[in-house]
Amino acid sequence: MSQMTNETLANNGRMLFIECDNLVKIYKVADLEVVALQGLDLLVREGEMMALVGPSGSGKSTLMNILGGLDFPTAGRVRVGTHNLLDMTSRDQVKYRRHMVGFVWQQTARNLLPYLTARENVELPMALAGFPGRERHERSKDLLERVGLADRMGHRPDRLSGGEQQRVAIAVAMANRPAMLLADEPTGEVDSASAEAIFQALRTLNQEFGVTVIIVTHDMTVATRVDRVVGMRDGRTSTEILRRRDGDIAISEEEFAILDRTGRLQLPEAYIDALDMEDRVRLRLEPDHIGVWPEANPQGEMSSSDNQEAQQ
Ligand code: ADP
Repeated sequence: MSQMTNETLANNGRMLFIECDNLVKIYKVADLEVVALQGLDLLVREGEMMALVGPSGSGKSTLMNILGGLDFPTAGRVRVGTHNLLDMTSRDQVKYRRHMVGFVWQQTARNLLPYLTARENVELPMALAGFPGRERHERSKDLLERVGLADRMGHRPDRLSGGEQQRVAIAVAMANRPAMLLADEPTGEVDSASAEAIFQALRTLNQEFGVTVIIVTHDMTVATRVDRVVGMRDGRTSTEILRRRDGDIAISEEEFAILDRTGRLQLPEAYIDALDMEDRVRLRLEPDHIGVWPEANPQGEMSSSDNQEAQQ
């Protein structure tokens, strides 16, 4: 990329791959407007494997559809690699979907053709993109081996378990060497052992091809399997769980609230409820933190001893 700025270099030296800045999506249904994304900010580094979690209706699918080039945002800024997604023609969008993105959907039927074998399913997108037969054959074998299905290549989907079908779907999504894999609830319909194998397949491809992976999930064990979990609420990113690693070993997990560029912060619902906070809060700047009190709580005001300290 020619216009590399400090902003596009993330702190660990990896390039920023996705930048969403104040992203807005409004759906118009008859006379009603539904604001699905309301000023969402998100940065994702190249080669990161991250998860999006959040209650139903918080905007996860809307964000995935925009990142996947299936839908246009209403306002804001969104860049993926060198593509500005707000400024694409329908033709650019088709190219973008074909070369940049691989999709894995929750419903296995949406991912695979039932009358083709696993290997033929993986070869199909390559055939449509014009890859020669030999390359298709080699790559489909290689991908199916990497997702642990070397002995299932000749099976049609109805001879595979749900989890195996999802792993074939992951291989299909990788067929045309996309820069990014988007997986919407890939483990939603399988048992926990199959879920483990699906996450493992995604991790293997992430590590071996450097593909950036974003997973929408309700699976609460996801935090142990990805680099970062971003929580969404009301059309915005609200929390992040980061894992600190020492080599391959995760040593701790820490939850953060997200502070956006204009200084907005969402307090966790449980904290607000616990202290009955409403409408307004008191803030106080301390040397190394900021205190937040309910409006009615006088502790948020400076006590007379604090005043004396401040005056000294
Ligand atoms: P999630 O994936 O987190 O469940 P969605 O992105 O599906 O959330 O939905 C966010 C909000 O946008 C919801 O209020 C939903 O009803 C609305 N929404 C999503 N898609 C459409 C659409 N095609 N038309 C109208 N409203 C939509």
